[in-house]
Amino acid sequence: MNITKKYSKTYNVIHAIASRSFMKFGKFMEIRKRLGMSTARWEKCFACNHDFAEDEDVYRGTVSQKGNIFFCKSCAEEYNTEIKGEE
Ligand SMILES: [Zn+2]
Repeated sequence: MNITKKYSKTYNVIHAIASRSFMKFGKFMEIRKRLGMSTARWEKCFACNHDFAEDEDVYRGTVSQKGNIFFCKSCAEEYNTEIKGEE
């Protein structure tokens, strides 16, 4: 018999930028790898766990306890912290 416990954690979205993408995911990975930096935490959208495709645009965000993360386009729009009409 197994006991499976599921944990959920809540992160406060401090920042989510939807108005412009940060860069193409493939390009970001190329730079990180060239610099010998780890890529594991950047490979999925922080909110929905979607795996980024090479030519997909990634969006910058910041959440509590975690710091900088990436959002996919739809999550960046959903959690957008920009004031509409500001730019
Ligand atoms: Zn997402």
